[in-house]
Amino acid sequence: MKIEKFSVGTGDRFGKQGKAQLQAFITAKESGIEVTPVWNKSHREHTTIGTSPDDVRVEADAAVKDLNWGGSYHVDADHIGLSNVDLFMNSGDFFTLDVADAIGGDVDQADVDAFVAKQSKYIGELAIPGIEEPFSITEDLIRKIATTYLGAVREAGKIYSKIEAAKGEGTFVTEVSMDETADPQTPVEMFFILAAIADEGIPAQTIAPKFSGRFNKGVDYVGDVDQFTLEFNQDLSVISFAITEFGLPSNLKLSVHSGSDKFSIYGPIGEAIKKHGAGLHLKTAGTTWLEELIGLAAAGGEGLVIAQEVYRNALGRFDELCGPYATVIDIKEENLPTADEVDQWSGDEYANALRHIQSCPAFNPDFRQLLHVAYKVAAEMGDRYLNALDTFEASVAANVTENILERHLKPLFAAM
Ligand SMILES: [Zn+2]
Repeated sequence: MKIEKFSVGTGDRFGKQGKAQLQAFITAKESGIEVTPVWNKSHREHTTIGTSPDDVRVEADAAVKDLNWGGSYHVDADHIGLSNVDLFMNSGDFFTLDVADAIGGDVDQADVDAFVAKQSKYIGELAIPGIEEPFSITEDLIRKIATTYLGAVREAGKIYSKIEAAKGEGTFVTEVSMDETADPQTPVEMFFILAAIADEGIPAQTIAPKFSGRFNKGVDYVGDVDQFTLEFNQDLSVISFAITEFGLPSNLKLSVHSGSDKFSIYGPIGEAIKKHGAGLHLKTAGTTWLEELIGLAAAGGEGLVIAQEVYRNALGRFDELCGPYATVIDIKEENLPTADEVDQWSGDEYANALRHIQSCPAFNPDFRQLLHVAYKVAAEMGDRYLNALDTFEASVAANVTENILERHLKPLFAAM
């Protein structure tokens, strides 16, 4: 199984927007933008909402059947590790092996020595086609990279072997992710990480590094866009060099775990993949849930009442909801409206504060980030929330589709 050149991961916390999400890919395809949809959901989301990985497979298959989607699609076991991969074995055909926690962990000294010896041919000036300046590689640098990352690659090898034993070689797509960690990986580090991945025998088709800058949930990129652009282009050059150098899968591509909505880097990403003729996997998550709230609010009546209640409840449980996401949100509490104010808002006022259109004066990124992490509140509403999604399906679906199509697929891929 080979992942296609362009793919976008979408999350659907409550499992009801599969068709509305797929519709965005169908409309994009009609306008010449061919992107493979991937449905992703992590163990944490499943636990919070009370869903199971098999539900995602059922949802994806049903959406594809109902809308007669003839293209390929995947179900991503997102951010899994050895302890929970079994839960995803049946439903997944795309596995994101999350080994960030093993970075900097225990590693066998003999293992490090063997890696350094094998890679010593790169000591000196390393010229990578497409990158202007050669990198200066020392034995110390290789040793440092090996010491930091070999444990993580070995962990990825263990997870991969477990999946391969259960599902069979070549029947699934493998991604190695190292994004949920404090320090970004440099292009040189990525080069040697890919060497280790190849040594380990992992047929990685996508790799998700941590890029520099902040990738806060549901809001735009925070960081130096020029620096990101340079790094991203260098990563693309490193990957195409590593494919031939280490014999990795020829379709190996970068996976950007965006935390959704990194609009200011979509342009540079689109230009870079076009320039390099490279593929891309872009993972978004959580914004479909926000489009549900927007659709409910805009529909008015009970839909708006639910959206207002979710906010009141979220504000009252700020620390509890934000705690698990502390490193990936940045909410300025002084910019949050009071719950009483929000109760006075019309559906359009609520929708405009939440919808991610930065040029709209009513847009409030702090309001948006708090609601992004507040899906637990809606999950606790149970059937009341789920029934409202059915009642106001037209309004919700229109917002879900428009978001993926207009704010993600078109800005990223329109120029291909
Ligand atoms: Zn990630």
